[in-house]
Amino acid sequence: MTGPLDAVLRPRTIAIIGASRSPETIGHQILANLLRYGFTGTVHPVNPHAAAIHGVKAFPSIGAVPDPIDLAVVSVPRPIVQGVVEECIAAGVKGLVVITAGFREVDEEGAEAERRLTALVREHGIRMVGPNCMGVLNADPAISMNATFAPVMPPLGGAAFVSQSGALGLSVLDYAAEFGIGIAQFVSIGNKPDVSGNDLLLQWEHDENVRTILMYVENFGNPVKFREIATRIARRKPIVVLKAGRSKVGARAASSHTGALAASDTAVDALLTQTGVLRATSIEELFDIAMGFTAQPLPRSPRTAVLTNSGGPGILAADALEPRGLALPELRAETVARLRPLFPPHASLRNPLDMIASARATDYRAALVILLDDPGIDSVMSIFVPPLGVSQEDVAEAVVAAARTAADKPVFAVLMGRKGLPEGRAELNDAGIPAYTFPESAARALAALVHYREFTERRSPEPRAVPIDAERVRAVIHAARAAGRNRLDEAEALQLIHACHIPVAPARIARTEDETAETAADLGYPVVLKVVSPLVVHKTDVGGVRVGIEDEAEVRAAWRQIHADVRAAMPLVPIDGVLVQRMAPHGIELIAGITRDPLFGPLVMFGLGGIFVEAIGDVVFRLAPLDDAEAAAMVGAIRSAPILDGIRGQPPADRAALADILLHLAQLATRFPEIAELDVNPLIPTRSGLLAVDARVRLSGGAR
Ligand code: ADP
Ligand code: MG
Repeated sequence: MTGPLDAVLRPRTIAIIGASRSPETIGHQILANLLRYGFTGTVHPVNPHAAAIHGVKAFPSIGAVPDPIDLAVVSVPRPIVQGVVEECIAAGVKGLVVITAGFREVDEEGAEAERRLTALVREHGIRMVGPNCMGVLNADPAISMNATFAPVMPPLGGAAFVSQSGALGLSVLDYAAEFGIGIAQFVSIGNKPDVSGNDLLLQWEHDENVRTILMYVENFGNPVKFREIATRIARRKPIVVLKAGRSKVGARAASSHTGALAASDTAVDALLTQTGVLRATSIEELFDIAMGFTAQPLPRSPRTAVLTNSGGPGILAADALEPRGLALPELRAETVARLRPLFPPHASLRNPLDMIASARATDYRAALVILLDDPGIDSVMSIFVPPLGVSQEDVAEAVVAAARTAADKPVFAVLMGRKGLPEGRAELNDAGIPAYTFPESAARALAALVHYREFTERRSPEPRAVPIDAERVRAVIHAARAAGRNRLDEAEALQLIHACHIPVAPARIARTEDETAETAADLGYPVVLKVVSPLVVHKTDVGGVRVGIEDEAEVRAAWRQIHADVRAAMPLVPIDGVLVQRMAPHGIELIAGITRDPLFGPLVMFGLGGIFVEAIGDVVFRLAPLDDAEAAAMVGAIRSAPILDGIRGQPPADRAALADILLHLAQLATRFPEIAELDVNPLIPTRSGLLAVDARVRLSGGAR
């Protein structure tokens, strides 16, 4: 196996620069860990003031080391890091891990030092992990490198973990044994000016030792690239992301911690939803899911059974499973018939299967074997609350034995007692069965496995070209720019979305009252009149919209009323005329739009529209470009989705046509970066299809 970061993760020779004899120093600890956990290569301490450290001969400088060095771990005071790295480069070092802190995360001077350091390593094509990191670890027995200052070596397993917080990473390593999470590799990336989470995804993509990828992320440096590579890699192995900085305060802490701006959570949510990575919302959930993926086969379906010796936890398990999309089907008649002889006649043999407190370890084994044999069940959660007289170890052993009879179905154990915990757990973990303390944790993990399986089975759709009339879009934008405006007027905005194949209610601008009356007669009643003014953003707010106009007298009255109302609300505003528009039939109001995130790029929005859109807040965002499946999923993702199917006599919305509109908007957003913001609001479903009656478009560059 070779990967782009082999010099860092599979070195044969390591130099520890800044290793001192004093055990409190980081360099000392890292050297001690490399020795203690049996690094299979050679390691050279570099220290001008010591002849040997930990019994290993030390060299005064990296240049004095006779061997070629693959990896240098740098833990020296910040002011001399640059010089030390220059020496490393001169000595032909291939990879760097810079532990030293005091860079971008502290101040502008530190940021400048980091930029210089990064430029230096880039110039020489050397990969650098850190600065401000806590080291790297590769548990592969062929390497056995613990170049961290973690107080332990985690158990060997298939999880690789990249953490933007070193301390969090080390505590995960610390807990790994207790929770039964086997670790393959760990990288603390610190400020990540060079090696980033994306680089580690690429490194681990083809590494067979890495079966699950865990990421703790405070900010995405290159979300567009993350989307591309994570979408691909997630199909091969599960990626679980814990993204910090959801709350406003959390986001501030995250950015001062890493010196990077936290991206808005809307865009992060969209990114994680679209890439098929699994999102953990807490450290606890990251552990839960990581445990679930350690050794289990993936469940073939969401149909699961819960086995318990106590009613409460069984119900709680069901409560936690169902909202996450798992099903607890009734047991088949044959299954019930096989279970019947094991239980008292009055026992109700349902799902969850409650064996009550008298159940022994042997009952667990027998019932679990039967449940696993039921073709309608594809996973089982076995919950044990220790009553007097039944030991946790015995139940653990029974669960292991039963699970062996169905190697293709995952079993999740919940051991709620504390007595005998380590023994029972270790036994289960060794057999590849995650052991949880609470049913909710097991439910979260089981759901993650089911969702991951479903994700890998979904075929990625063929990209479909959705033509937009780019010539017309360009012409409309050009006209507005030529008139010195960044905001399109009512008619231009409607023309632009029409060029994207969004059906628009027929409309024309009129300048005078007479012209307005003629235009209305031409378009056919009923009509709507709307003020056209470059300075009015929300027309309704200033009395600029009159709907349901049935004849010429009403048109003239509405024309005067709009002028009077708008003048009253905004005395100095120029009025360019009115938009005369055919009235759309009554229906629900939807919104679709485009916005941009400086880092994440264009986002497409869909939701419940109308004039209360901000207050209702039922909208979803996804990153452009979109594919068919994503567009369709977006339509179904709003809370009000059931309304789309036409309730209370409203015409239903054509979901496929809606998805199509979103695809066109995504295309528009990608091809026309000069469109800063756009919304179509409302978009009204009618008996003869969707109809847009209002659009707003702002071009990049200034507010006008
Ligand atoms: P704004 O959003 O600037 O206030 P709109 O053009 O969206 O102005 O009009 C406000 C509301 O008036 C819409 O949300 C919709 O309820 C109604 N409306 C506007 N135009 C039409 C139309 N052509 N047919 C039916 N209703 C309309
Ligand atoms: Mg509107």
